[in-house]
Amino acid sequence: MMVQVVCDFDGTISERDMISAIMEAFVPDESRPIIAAVQSGALSVRDGVEAMFALIPSHRYRDIVDFAQRHTVIREGFPQFIHTCGQLGWKIAVVSGGFDFFVDPVIHSVSTDIAVYRNRIDASGPVLRVEWGLPCDGDCEGGCGLCKPSVIRQLCGGGEAVVAIGDGVTDFKVARMADYVFARSRLLDMVQEEGIPHAEFHTFHDIVDAMTDKEAPVHAYV
Ligand SMILES: [Zn+2]
Repeated sequence: MMVQVVCDFDGTISERDMISAIMEAFVPDESRPIIAAVQSGALSVRDGVEAMFALIPSHRYRDIVDFAQRHTVIREGFPQFIHTCGQLGWKIAVVSGGFDFFVDPVIHSVSTDIAVYRNRIDASGPVLRVEWGLPCDGDCEGGCGLCKPSVIRQLCGGGEAVVAIGDGVTDFKVARMADYVFARSRLLDMVQEEGIPHAEFHTFHDIVDAMTDKEAPVHAYV
């Protein structure tokens, strides 16, 4: 069967969430109530991220790009994981609620052959404005920002097995559409509760080990 891997970026490929790190560094006091409102569900991810970037004047964009590139730490084993996907013929898409300026350099340092879905920042106005890479389609209840379920609907015709890799709340909708999930952090608790077939991972070496071990549970689902 064809396998389509859908891999999150922040907290998954990168060790920590870059949007939070940027807000903490540039507008800590102003962004904190917005982050809390998103976490409590009072504000959608889309509205929250737009509101946070609108706190930052556009003349600071260059500083933010520099900050992000200095502070991105890639989880161990990611290049080996990309290599193993190639060997097994598993297609991979990186689907990120983050931004081109910190996602693209990391992915392109490993391979230029990976589909990447992420957002952009428009710094031409007085404050930073988010341009969403793929807004919610009609089958989503909305509010995602970059809509991961819509990406899966675009990528997959239904004939392929979907393997999701992620860590957070925004990956849960992806996990529910997947045949098998590699999860850590909050996503791990959520897939456990929901009874979705999964394995925990700490580094990409864990995922490579499962991919290359024919006895590993993932192979019963793909
Ligand atoms: Zn959506």
